[in-house]
Amino acid sequence: MKFWREPLDAGEKKPPRGKVHILIERCKGCGFCITYCPKQVLEASTDFNRRGYHPPVVKYPERCVNCGLCSIICAEFAIWTTASPQPGNTDAGTGATPAEEEQTPQTAGTPRKEGNQGG
Ligand code: SF4
Ligand code: SF4
Repeated sequence: MKFWREPLDAGEKKPPRGKVHILIERCKGCGFCITYCPKQVLEASTDFNRRGYHPPVVKYPERCVNCGLCSIICAEFAIWTTASPQPGNTDAGTGATPAEEEQTPQTAGTPRKEGNQGG
């Protein structure tokens, strides 16, 4: 994004950073999170989940600014982010992490504990 003018404190402020969490088996493959992410963090996986959809994978994790748009736009509650602790980011640790259900792209395809996800 190009601003028409540079903020005076642009050199002092660091943008927030986020960590993306994806429940691969809950994804319906609509692609909204991929299309509308303002930082192009995500892309469609070449793998299928058990329902036959291509879930998103995190292509550029360093780009995520924890804006939360992906979690808001996902009708399946399959993706969300938490703040990453780093210098200049004082909002770390505010997000809940249901780790027992989470599958990161790195663990996609490995067996996991069944959740109460229905159909
Ligand atoms: S939180 Fe924002 S920047 Fe990060 S992956 Fe989601 S939509 Fe993209
Ligand atoms: S918005 Fe949700 S259901 Fe759609 S592709 Fe992203 S994670 Fe899957």
